[in-house]
Amino acid sequence: MTRTRRTGHITLAGGGPGPADLLTVRAARALAVADVVYFDRLGPTADLAQLAPRATFVDVGKTPGRHKVPQEDITARMIDGARSGLQVLRLKGGDPFVFGRGGEEMAGALAAGIPVTVIPGVSSAIAVPGAAGIPLTHRNVSHLFTVVSGHAPLTGREYAHLAGLGGTLVVLMGIGTLPSLVAGLRLAGLAASTPVAVLERGFSPTARTTTSTLAGIVAASSTCRNPAVIVMGEVVALGAELAVAGLDAALLTA
Ligand code: SAH
Repeated sequence: MTRTRRTGHITLAGGGPGPADLLTVRAARALAVADVVYFDRLGPTADLAQLAPRATFVDVGKTPGRHKVPQEDITARMIDGARSGLQVLRLKGGDPFVFGRGGEEMAGALAAGIPVTVIPGVSSAIAVPGAAGIPLTHRNVSHLFTVVSGHAPLTGREYAHLAGLGGTLVVLMGIGTLPSLVAGLRLAGLAASTPVAVLERGFSPTARTTTSTLAGIVAASSTCRNPAVIVMGEVVALGAELAVAGLDAALLTA
């Protein structure tokens, strides 16, 4: 049998918020045929060997403040792999385009002439609150949600806009900057009584929900760590009411 040299390819796939069965079917299929998988800390890391049996794995894991492999190197290495004919899969936690730098990797690959396929993923921004019984929108309670990165502090103008929006505020990567976020939002007029939830390690056996108000959350969350999704708004109180009605987190995640 003669083998023609395959053209390489890069697939940017969302891995979902952790468990393998929250991958999309399309992402699972792409993993099954991948030659090399670049992955990081979030997403279905525990099941990778089974999901991608013929692949080699590169851990480009990022923990806050410690970037293992610089972003440019990740993109350059994936491009090299695709050029040599490999099916390269970049697996990211959640959805690849929600704070995942997926856009940069896609742009780099396309600029190098490498074809790219994007496979969306279940974003923790929506899924983690959902599994904790907090609907981000709810008729007559909230008709919008805004997803914010807590990676760097916001500007005064941004606090003012967010405080004036109403609806639900979802913050990712926000544990480190929570005190400044809370102070900024309170200064901008968001009510001290606004319900707030910190949802750590969603979908894991050690998932934990901490609820308080805007005034109380900094003290209440002093032992909370990343990864966590922070939700602010009246829907948080709704989640608590639903839990009282018998929809507890165990039932919801079963
Ligand atoms: N692209 C990802 C987000 C990347 S930023 C997505 O769409 O989900 C990384 C942040 O996502 C973490 O700091 C945390 O805020 C959040 N996150 C991801 N998975 C999570 C999980 N299982 N539980 C809680 N937070 C999670």
